[in-house]
Amino acid sequence: MPTALKTTTRHPKRVAPVGAPALAQRLASKLVPRLASKLLGGLALGLTLAISLAACAVSQQREVEMGVSYAAKIEQELPLVRDPEIVRYITVLGDSLAGMTDDRSLSWHFSIVDAPEINAFALPGGYIYVNRGLIEKATSIAHVAGVLGHEIAHVTQRHSIQQMRKAQGANIGMTLTCILTDVCASGAGDLIQFAAGGVFAKFSRNDESEADAEGVKTVIRAGIDPSGIPQLFRILLDERKARPAGVDAFLLSHPLEEDRIATTQALIAQQPKELLRGLTQDSPSFQAFRKRLIALPPSPPSKKAGR
Ligand SMILES: [Zn+2]
Repeated sequence: MPTALKTTTRHPKRVAPVGAPALAQRLASKLVPRLASKLLGGLALGLTLAISLAACAVSQQREVEMGVSYAAKIEQELPLVRDPEIVRYITVLGDSLAGMTDDRSLSWHFSIVDAPEINAFALPGGYIYVNRGLIEKATSIAHVAGVLGHEIAHVTQRHSIQQMRKAQGANIGMTLTCILTDVCASGAGDLIQFAAGGVFAKFSRNDESEADAEGVKTVIRAGIDPSGIPQLFRILLDERKARPAGVDAFLLSHPLEEDRIATTQALIAQQPKELLRGLTQDSPSFQAFRKRLIALPPSPPSKKAGR
C-alpha cells in the first residue's frame, strides 16, 4: 500500500520530522564542534587523513562526521529552499524512502537547492540535495521518488564515501582540511566544484547500476511506481540534447546513457507482478508541492548553485 504520498506519513522506523524549525534544531544538534582549534597544521593533518582513508575502510562515525561537515558548509554556501511546507514535503518523502532501505539507522537530511540546473547529489552519512530545477522538470512523484531512491542508494551502498576516497586522490587531504579547518573559508570553490561533481569523480557505471537497482526496490517498497526512474532518465537525456548546460552537473557525477533506460526498464519488468500492482504514479500532494516550488521567487544567481 502506498505510504509516501501524504505529508502526514510516518516514518516506518521513527517519527517523521516536521517543519523547518525541527529540521534546523536537528541540524544544529548535529553540527560537530568545530575541529579547527584542534587541528593545528591542517595540511599535514589532511595528508594523514588522506593516508588513513586510503588505508582502511571509513567507519560510520567518520562517514557521518564528513557528511555533517560538508552539510554545514553547504548550508552556508548554497541557497537552499526554506519554505517550511516545501521542506517538510521533501523531508517526509525522503525519510519514507530511506526508511525502506537504510539498515544503519542513519539520520537522513533532504534539502532542495534553490538552483535552476538539474542536479542531485548525496553526501556520505545521509545528506541528500536535489536542485529545484530537477523537481520542476519532473512531473510526478514517481520521478522525484526515483531520484531520491537513487541518491539514497549511493549513501547506503557507500558509493559516496568511496567516491570521496577515490576521486580526491591528491585533493582529498586538501579538501578535508578545507572543510574541517576553515583554511579555505574565504573561497568556496572546492565545495562548489564538489557539489557539481567536478572535484569528486563520477560514480562508476557499476555504482550507477547498483543505485538504479536499489532505487527501484526502494520506491516499490514505499508504494511508488519505479517506472519514474527510467522516465526521469528520459527527461534528463532529452534535456541534455536541448540545453546541455542545464543538466551537465548531474551527468558529470552520474554518467547516464541510453542503455541505462533499457536496463532499468528490464529490471522493473523482472519484478513480481503483484509487487507492481497498484503503485502510485502521482499524487495531488506532490502536485501541490511542485506548484508551490515553481511559484517561489526566481532562484538567486547561480554562481554557487550546483554548478
Ligand atoms: Zn548516481
